Parts: sequence; structure tokens; C-alpha cells
Amino acid sequence: MSTKITNKEQVEAFLESYDTFLFDCDGVLWSGTHLLPHVVETIELLRSRGKRLIFVTNNSTKSRKAYTGKFAKFGITVSENEIFGSAYSSAVYLSKVLNFPKDKKVLVVGEKGIEEELESVGINYIGGTDPAYNVEATDASLASLARDESIGAVLCGLDLHLNYYKISKALLQIQDPNCHFLATNIDSTFPSAGRLLPGAGTIVGTLITSSGRTPVALGKPSDEMMNCVKEAYHLDPSKTCMVGDRLNTDMKFGEKGGLGTFMVLTGVDKEETILGTNPLVTPKFYADRLGLLYELLQN
Ligand code: PLP
Ligand code: CA
Repeated sequence: MSTKITNKEQVEAFLESYDTFLFDCDGVLWSGTHLLPHVVETIELLRSRGKRLIFVTNNSTKSRKAYTGKFAKFGITVSENEIFGSAYSSAVYLSKVLNFPKDKKVLVVGEKGIEEELESVGINYIGGTDPAYNVEATDASLASLARDESIGAVLCGLDLHLNYYKISKALLQIQDPNCHFLATNIDSTFPSAGRLLPGAGTIVGTLITSSGRTPVALGKPSDEMMNCVKEAYHLDPSKTCMVGDRLNTDMKFGEKGGLGTFMVLTGVDKEETILGTNPLVTPKFYADRLGLLYELLQN
């Protein structure tokens, strides 16, 4: 049974239960380009009560540094180390879990966010936004492709400049079973201007289909991301709550990690999905919107 938060006493009890909150961003704090009601006030409320806040996003197109700018545009002050994105999660996994060798490179299929986070942990990469990898696929350019033994991993996220040449290059590499195959996240879609557009999972999917391999995914709801977050912030799962708008990423992530779960109805999943038969996850708490935590305490 999920508890719907609708009064002040429930807000107090909910806040008492946790000292750390992991926040999904889009659909919880903002929706595309507009800030959701009383989000700034709710964040201030949590900070004033000494709660630790960590913002966990599957969006790999921006680095933690770039995300602080996005928060600032919405009037929310956060520091870089309060943000944990799937690009950073991938960089941490390569560096701390795989001990990725200094003499090897990562082939990036993705955007600047991935490049900046790999740089932040000192991992060499090629591909990404480099125009040399954004070439037209022709008989000649495809014929020139050859496996590069210095590439030890392919890391794939949302790539807005995806082309057949780049996918072919990545496939050649992961056909070698010794080459790691990683995905920043495997979201089927992401929200944009009120619609859903193809997510990183659709791009990763072309490599899964062509290679027959399954990547290690480093975004929500993967255990790998949870392990990286737990390690980075020394989380006590029993005192930590995951706040999100999506059952199959955010709520699943929190539940698998042994965290409390709080779902808001301002994003992808609706109340019917939680209350319907056999929901994927039953969030411990839910509310119409995040800002209600602040609003209900004003009475
Ligand atoms: N991927 C991309 C490219 C996005 O733009 C977004 C949201 O804006 C997401 C994933 C999902 O992000 P979040 O985990 O913050 O909902
Ligand atoms: Ca979301």
C-alpha cells in the first residue's frame, strides 16, 4: 500500500523518516523548461531542516558542472557535488570499478556531458562530438573503418548527432568480447516540450541488436549506479528516500537499493499506474506534486 501525502501531519512524519533525499530532476523539479510550483520553497525547507540533497539524473548530455547552470536558471542553487548524472556515474564506474587502464581509450557515442565527465576522472576518449567521427557513411568511409586495439570500452548515451558511420565504428569495437560495452542509461524515451522523444535506450538498442551483447547500464535503475551513489555519499539506505516521477527508473532504483520511495505525479507516471493491478513498484509515499510538502506546512 502506498501512502498518499495530503496533510501536514503526513508531511512531518515523512520528513522525520529520512535525512537524505535523492531527487530525480525532470518531472519532479521542472517539466522541460518550466519550474514546477513551490519547488524552490520545498528545497529551501529541506535544507533548513538539515536534510542532505542529491540530484540524480539519467540525462547524460550534460555534465554535473553544466547541470548546476541549469539549476541556476530555475533559481535553484546547487553545488556540483550534489549532482550525480549518468555521465558521471559511467565515468566513476570506468575509473573505480573497472580501473580502466591509462593506456586505453573509451569510444564515446554521445554528447559533451560524457566527454566532460570522462575528463574529470582522467579517462582518455575518442568519438563523441569530435567532427572526425561525425562523417557521412559512404562505401569509402565504411571501408576505411578498422578495429582500434587501443579502445578498451564503448560508452553509449543519447547522441544527437548519431550517424551510421559512428554506430558501425562502435559495433566493430564491441565485436571484440574484451571491449567493455557500457550505456549511460537505457531510457526508452525522454520528455521534451511536452512530448516524448527517443531516449538513449533506442540508440543503445541499435548496438544491442547488431552485436548481440548486453551493455552494463550506468543510469537509474541500475545496481551499478546505486553502488556508485552509495559509495560516493556513504548513504544509509534506511534513512534515504528516492523522489521521482517514473516507476520503471526512479522508483525501481530506490526500491532495489533498499531506499524509501516517494513518487510525484507531475511527470511520466500517473496515479492509476500506482493504484492499478500489479504496478511495477509500489512507492512507499506519493503526492500530487513535490511543492505540496511546502504548501501543506503553511496551514
Ligand atoms: N535523458 C535525456 C536526454 C533527458 O533530457 C532527460 C530529461 O530531461 C532524461 C534522460 C531523464 O532525466 P531524469 O532522470 O532527470 O528524469
Ligand atoms: Ca524524471
